[in-house]
Amino acid sequence: MEGRASYVPTLPNPGVGNLQTAISFTEPAARAVQILEDLVKFDTVSSQSNLAMMAYIEDILSSHGITSILNYNSDRTKANLFATIGPLEEGGVILSGHTDVVPVADQQWSSDPFILAHRGDRIYGRGTADMKAFIACSLAALEFIEIGALVRPVYLAFSYDEEVGCLGAPALIEDLCSKVPPPAAVIVGEPSKMRLIGSHKSVHLYEVSVTGVPAHSSAAHLGISANAIAVRLMAVLLQIADALMENDAGNQAFHPPFSTLTIGLMKGGTAANVLAPEASFVFDLRCLPEQVPDEILSPFYSMISVLSESYPAATITVENRAAVPGFAHITGGAAEALVRSVGGDNSEMLAASFGSEAGQFQRAGFSTLICGPGSIDQAHQADEFIEAVEIEKCMDFMRSLFQAMRQA
Ligand SMILES: [Zn+2]
Repeated sequence: MEGRASYVPTLPNPGVGNLQTAISFTEPAARAVQILEDLVKFDTVSSQSNLAMMAYIEDILSSHGITSILNYNSDRTKANLFATIGPLEEGGVILSGHTDVVPVADQQWSSDPFILAHRGDRIYGRGTADMKAFIACSLAALEFIEIGALVRPVYLAFSYDEEVGCLGAPALIEDLCSKVPPPAAVIVGEPSKMRLIGSHKSVHLYEVSVTGVPAHSSAAHLGISANAIAVRLMAVLLQIADALMENDAGNQAFHPPFSTLTIGLMKGGTAANVLAPEASFVFDLRCLPEQVPDEILSPFYSMISVLSESYPAATITVENRAAVPGFAHITGGAAEALVRSVGGDNSEMLAASFGSEAGQFQRAGFSTLICGPGSIDQAHQADEFIEAVEIEKCMDFMRSLFQAMRQA
């Protein structure tokens, strides 16, 4: 179980529990904040179940006469939710959001991360920016529209396990999104301050496990150190990482403009005087959409072959723990036309350095864009927050979007 963050409530704290008096919201935004307050209370850190939060969302939807379909993981502890608002016709729009959040353990929060707190013009809480506010806005919008007037549908597609490698979305896309009359567009509501994001890197996580042959350190010739093998492999990875960083042509749409490779976790060995029987490490590769991970990693795979030949008694296994497809920039797609007409943003499309489900939707053939309230700068941080104005902007966007769906 994930630990709670430590926090020291500063007294008096005028914000907590005092949301509506502190900021004056328009009525739709105030309703979105109420729903957000409830959503934040559900501890949907990726290691936890999201079913209680899904039941809450189902309740809201059913109060509007909308049926939800849940699509469970294999042990039925988590689910994706899919709902259709309006008639099952072509040309609808999918609103995509993830229900899980990153852990708060080891972060210093100024207030309980699972209780919405208002300070100044900001609303604090885990998931406020990434990305429960978008979900809250899409649900709040239902109270201010005439569902019966829609001639094209809005679909809600809420996933689990996005933060641990976009693991929930593939089944959601294949089992549900792909089985409705073709929608015109998918809007992934990751925090973009309601700007258009049209591309992101691919994200790949690899876990490398090495077994050696243990022996006392005084008899090093009798064993094989798993640590020694792991270090040689990691040295090659670091050379690859340096070479990627020196690729200064790069792709200037991205910050940084090159692919990145980092080794986030490593462990190995049992004692100082024993050749390590086991070692493992996890590395993270984020590729520009035009680059192919296996090509980048070819020196690493060569080193595995060399070491496997030199140490036949050792084993090296590489497990691809997550592969989030890149999201490639496409100009003039249906999603761009829709989001620009609804949101009124005519500025250049941005590229994100974070991964999301957008690449998975794009790969399934949907015209896709990222556009959502809040800033990615606050995502995953202690004292994550969303500015009040972002909720207002998103509610305006929802109103125009539902309005657009009243026309064929
Ligand atoms: Zn997110």
